[in-house]
Amino acid sequence: MRQLSRSENMSRIRSRCTRPEMRLRKALWREGLRYRLKFDLPGRPDLTFVAPKVAIFVDGCFWHGCPLHYSAPSSRQQFWARKLRCNVERDLAVDNRLANMGWHPLHVWQHSLNKMGCLIAAIRLTLRETPKGIYETRHELPQGNVIARPETACRGIDIPWFRCECNSDEVRVLAVSSPGSLRPRAERRPQCAECVCLRCRRVFVRATNFDLNTGVG
Ligand SMILES: [Zn+2]
Ligand SMILES: [Zn+2]
Repeated sequence: MRQLSRSENMSRIRSRCTRPEMRLRKALWREGLRYRLKFDLPGRPDLTFVAPKVAIFVDGCFWHGCPLHYSAPSSRQQFWARKLRCNVERDLAVDNRLANMGWHPLHVWQHSLNKMGCLIAAIRLTLRETPKGIYETRHELPQGNVIARPETACRGIDIPWFRCECNSDEVRVLAVSSPGSLRPRAERRPQCAECVCLRCRRVFVRATNFDLNTGVG
């Protein structure tokens, strides 16, 4: 089979997963979870629950540095490297602004939409409906931190080498050492990745060339 060029590949990804946030919105609506759209917030969240001030973002694995799926293109390397770092840093800045306004940013990986039932269940766990049909949060949510519950509950795949010292696996890739994919079965994997923890904001470098069977680098 002919190899697709990067741009063909990207346009394919875009058209196939047109607006992944729509998939989540539809699923939530079908499940009776009544979100609101509120685009005047920093970062334009994909949907919100206003009473508990939860702002949900569906983050694409390529654009936002998924530690499981980020793939660094081999063409225009500097451009893509700058793009990735810029996107992730913008996400962190947006989260800060939301937190300062009393909102709780909640990031959902695009890949977790493939386990939609699980994702919805996890969002339900975070939210509780009052008799008046208004959502509250079931838990006291941390101010200024990203709520990790839905992702952690849904991932189903442990990626221990990306776990931060604070024990959060809510990490983003900022940069990789060479072109290649972080996917577990990728033929060409970068040697290491620079990551940032969304929860404690620690930046760290991890080897990524692990043997997945033994977990030994
Ligand atoms: Zn992913
Ligand atoms: Zn951390």
